[in-house]
Amino acid sequence: MPALTTLIDGIIDAIGGGANAATLRSKLLSLKEQTEAFEAAHAYLLNENTALEKKYADLQSQVSQPKHPVSEAKGTDKCPYCNKVSGVLQDIKPDPIWGGIGTKIYDYKCSNCGKTYDKQVES
Ligand SMILES: [Zn+2]
Repeated sequence: MPALTTLIDGIIDAIGGGANAATLRSKLLSLKEQTEAFEAAHAYLLNENTALEKKYADLQSQVSQPKHPVSEAKGTDKCPYCNKVSGVLQDIKPDPIWGGIGTKIYDYKCSNCGKTYDKQVES
């Protein structure tokens, strides 16, 4: 499939070389054929691009709207009040008695019942 510019250059050269009308006509016809092929390819790519843009927008809206709220997804600890694994770690503090040596206080907030609680964790 010759490039359109190659065909045009051929026509310019033919005119420069004094080619007759029949030669120019046949060169212009093949230029027309190629132009039509490029137009069809262009239309196909435009359609494909529109479809891909739509797909991308759909995927982007799925990414920005997670199915589960992040606070629920992060629940890692069993809540002592409602017994669901929905305790979300809020903060880690040094143990006030031991001054951070050996143990730490993990602060949790339950995303199910909303209560807060701590746990002493040995590190
Ligand atoms: Zn709870």
